[in-house]
Order: sequence, then C-alpha cells, then structure tokens
Amino acid sequence: MRDQYGRDICYLRISVTDRCNLRCVYCMPEEGVAWMPHGQILTYEQIVRVVEAASRLGVSHIRLTGGEPLVRPQLYRLVEMVKGVAGIESVGLTTNGVLLTEQLSQLRQAGLDGVNLSLDTLDPQQFAAITRRAGLLPQVLQGLEAAAGTPGLTVKVNCVPTQLNGDQVVPLARLAQQREISVRFIELMPIGLGQDRHGLTQKQVMEQLTDAFGAPMPCARPKGAGPGAYVTFPGFTGRVGFISALSHQFCHLCNRVRLTADGHLKTCLQYQDGVDLKPYLEEGGAPQFLESAMEQAIYYKPAGHHFTTQPQAGDEKHNMNQIGG
Ligand code: SAM
Ligand code: SF4
Repeated sequence: MRDQYGRDICYLRISVTDRCNLRCVYCMPEEGVAWMPHGQILTYEQIVRVVEAASRLGVSHIRLTGGEPLVRPQLYRLVEMVKGVAGIESVGLTTNGVLLTEQLSQLRQAGLDGVNLSLDTLDPQQFAAITRRAGLLPQVLQGLEAAAGTPGLTVKVNCVPTQLNGDQVVPLARLAQQREISVRFIELMPIGLGQDRHGLTQKQVMEQLTDAFGAPMPCARPKGAGPGAYVTFPGFTGRVGFISALSHQFCHLCNRVRLTADGHLKTCLQYQDGVDLKPYLEEGGAPQFLESAMEQAIYYKPAGHHFTTQPQAGDEKHNMNQIGG
C-alpha cells in the first residue's frame, strides 16, 4: 500500500525477541536491562496473523530481527510459517551470527532467503570490547563462512563503524574480495545508546576504501537491496554498501515498517508513532480490524527522521534491541 507521501510500503521487519546473547555497547546496556515480560511477546501464531494482514496490504518482504532472533527457540518454524503466507516473496534474517552455524541448514530448509550478519570487527579483542562478550568471534566467522557457502542464500555483512573499530573498514571490506557477498557500512544512528557515541560517515569510510582498493566502480544491486548505495572495487567478487541515514538521508525512499516483539507496529525508527496491535491479536479477534488498524498507521508513516537536529517530544526512547534494529 502507499502511505500519505506516496511511498510503496512493501517491507516489514519483525523483532521476535528483545533478548540477546551479546551486549553491543551502542545497542544495549551491560546490566539492568528491563526485559519485556514473556507473556507480552507475540507468539509465532500471532506474528503470522500480522504477516497475513501485512501481505493483504501489499507487504511482500519480511526480515526477522531482534534482539538476537536466533535465541528464540525453533526460529526455523517461524520462517516456514511466514514463508507460507500468500504474497510473501522473501524472508531474511538479521543476526549476530553466534548461533548461525548450528541453525543454518534448518533455516534454509524452512525457506530462508537471506542472512544479514552483523560484524563490526575481525579483531578478537575489539570484538570483546564492542560486544562485551569474549571468545565468540570464531563462532561468528564460522557462521559467516557457512552462510556464504550456502548456494542461493543472499549474504550481507553489516558493520557499524565508530571510534572503536575505525581501523576495521578495510579488513572487513576485504571479506567481499573473494566472496559473493556485500559488506555494508551503516552510519550509527542516534537512537538509544547510539546517542552516546560517534560513528564514521560514509565519506570517511569511502576515503579509507579508496586509499586501499582504488576508485570505486558501479555494480549491480544485490537481491533485496533497500535504500543502500552499492559499489565494487577492482578485483572484488562482491560489493560494498553504504546505509547512510545521516549523511545521505533516504527517508523519501523508505519502504518499511517494523513490528516490535511485543506487538507495536512502528512506522519510523525515530518516533514512537504507530499502533499497538496486541488488542487486535486477542483470541477470536477479527482479521479486518487488525488490517484496518495497520492500514491507518502505515498511511500516517512520518515523512522522515530528524537525526541531525535536537530531540523532540515523541522521539523513540527505547534501545535498538527493544525496537528491532
Ligand atoms: N542481534 C542482531 C544483530 O546484531 O544483527 C539483530 C538486531 S541488531 C539491533 C540489528 C542491527 O542494528 C545490527 O547490525 C546493529 O549493529 C545495528 N544497530 C544497533 N544499534 C544501532 C544504532 N544506534 N545505529 C545503527 N545501527 C545500529
Ligand atoms: Fe544484540 Fe544485535 Fe544489539 Fe548487538 S546489535 S546487542 S547483537 S541486538
């Protein structure tokens, strides 16, 4: 469906949990996390009802995220259920990769189309400092190799470059030299704990890449590409992408809405705007009420974020693990 600004909303990101096995410094506090009560978290059956309504409204692409989606038991079941909804063309997963190797083949068999793996550094000490968990980098890299080696699976590596891992831009981009994957640099957004840190800009990242690899070259966009910009470099098999919400604002192209793990349909990352779908998901609730609540919220999706200006009333107060990044 089209929103009030004529944007075609075809993409729903679903957070399946706010729990996580890492504690990335720009995403979650180390301790004292106020978890969503288990009873508030949507069941797989409730998520599917939202996907069915979304599909009727024109959504065709789904991404499962969190928190860490792979800590939710039997996530492959949800992949299968969502993939089976009429009108859903692709189901992707955004993960930190810690549990990926052991679940990948079940997820793929269930119909998973793509994996976005978050990886900010190839340095074990930096990994421990950023994620506040030591010793897990080898598992993540194993997950990446397993995904990159899975025929037909679209694989993207997502890095948020900050002052903590600025020296990792070139080593991470090298992952796309030999592999048919995209390595994407995401500008840190001032949401939750992201407000306390400084990210590198697309320009700063591109300077490092050009010094190391030469001038960037245009390339085909990967499957399922959103508003990111993609280039390749001489000798590369894969691509490098940029998701630069601050320096290259793309809100006019935004095609997505989000569902939090506790059932809030969120229409823009920056604002609390949206609708609580929980009341429409009670036992026996009529699908048409759910659908019209979603339709109305999507229609009023805000025009765009204001990340580069002062905070306003109505801004999102939660951390990324609670929103579903
Ligand atoms: N746990 C999974 C993972 O890390 O991929 C999925 C959820 S995580 C919130 C999704 C993505 O959001 C990660 O790539 C993470 O780096 C990114 N992220 C978290 N906080 C962010 C922020 N303030 N700005 C930009 N990206 C952020
Ligand atoms: Fe967990 Fe992903 Fe947030 Fe890191 S970015 S703490 S892996 S939810």
